[in-house]
Amino acid sequence: MRVVVVNSGSSSIKYKVFALEDLTTLMEGLLERIGPGEARLKHRRLTVSDDYEEIIETRFITNHREGLEFILDVAGRYPTTRDAPREFFGFGHRVVHGGEVFRKPVIIDDEAIRQIEDLIPLAPLHNPPNLVAIRALRELRPDVPNVAVFDTAFHQSMPPKAFHYALPSEFYRMHHVRRYGFHGSSHQYVAKEASRYLGIPEEQLNLITLHLGNGASASALHGGKSIDTSMGLTPLEGLIMGTRCGDLDPAVHFYLSRKTGKSFEAIEDILNKESGLKGICGMNDMREIQRCAEDGDDQAELAIEMFCYRIKKYIGSYYAVLGRVDAIIFTGGIGENSARVRKESCEGLTALGISLDDHRNEEASFGVLEIQSEESRVKMLVIPTDEEREIALQTIHTIRHAAGVKGVPNL
Ligand code: AMP
Repeated sequence: MRVVVVNSGSSSIKYKVFALEDLTTLMEGLLERIGPGEARLKHRRLTVSDDYEEIIETRFITNHREGLEFILDVAGRYPTTRDAPREFFGFGHRVVHGGEVFRKPVIIDDEAIRQIEDLIPLAPLHNPPNLVAIRALRELRPDVPNVAVFDTAFHQSMPPKAFHYALPSEFYRMHHVRRYGFHGSSHQYVAKEASRYLGIPEEQLNLITLHLGNGASASALHGGKSIDTSMGLTPLEGLIMGTRCGDLDPAVHFYLSRKTGKSFEAIEDILNKESGLKGICGMNDMREIQRCAEDGDDQAELAIEMFCYRIKKYIGSYYAVLGRVDAIIFTGGIGENSARVRKESCEGLTALGISLDDHRNEEASFGVLEIQSEESRVKMLVIPTDEEREIALQTIHTIRHAAGVKGVPNL
């Protein structure tokens, strides 16, 4: 059977189809530009010769339901050429905000849909397209269970002292203003991989996980559980990101509004879409920024320095929070690929038992890469993340658990 993972954005749908038995990726794809104009679907299928064939199709697609019908149509016409069963075991949906209601994945029923709807004010850009895909697949394939896997759920283990803001408490009671954290599937996935690689049970591991991509977040994991993370009420808080500012004096918002006459909405847009690396140097792609910095661009150099400095501050504070750190994990497009960012984020931390081996750090690799020096007390690992695989695992676990299957592994 197959497990399909769906990640539905405002104008795009990403999907991955896994074999239930061994989680081989049978097909995957991305439909972009849903809305006015022509949408483009890039579909890849696993062939008998063990490589992936790419198919590109375009079509006018006005909404997500049509988009999913298009994907099912293309996947039906261009299935994997491997001998694989075609029935669906389940659909796993990445849902961005689960608030305090969802501490783990759930099988979607009408009540779950209502609760995800109630959370829209907390994630107005993300939860609605997630819901559209859920509704469409329930209608198109009513025989297949849908599971929601929340970005926030993994961080629900944070204690009150970590998740509360120092604001009047009625804002929390009445409006749910608190820190939630995101990228949960990624932090959870790399923690499990680290545990597997090190041969130490997760319950015994203290980790600092750094998801450094276009969005970026750090987490402190105690015994495999998240006890603090850098993103807050929204994914704007914390590390410097591609276009998001991360931590900021909240007074900047009011000051800018008074000085420029811009509305709060306009400033919110700037903090989310025009700030971070892009705000500092005009570029948000780390590869390009590194190239420009090497060519002597001062702003690009500053952007990298600021990016790494913020990460280092989080490593230091999470070290203090955890007391003992067994490993620091780098993941995400930048964490997996930028030796410079890894090096500068950890520079000068030898007193904490953190030191990198420059040679190992430069090595390109597939799979898990160990980059600490011989003297380092703390292991330092580069682990490629795979959020879709984590969502597939959680979908399988949730459906089996609901069906009362005995001996469901604690994935
Ligand atoms: P993600 O959001 O996880 O896909 O990560 C995207 C970010 O990773 C972008 O800033 C890319 O420039 C960055 N990235 C990808 N490959 C490299 C690389 N080889 N060196 C530096 N940054 C990279």
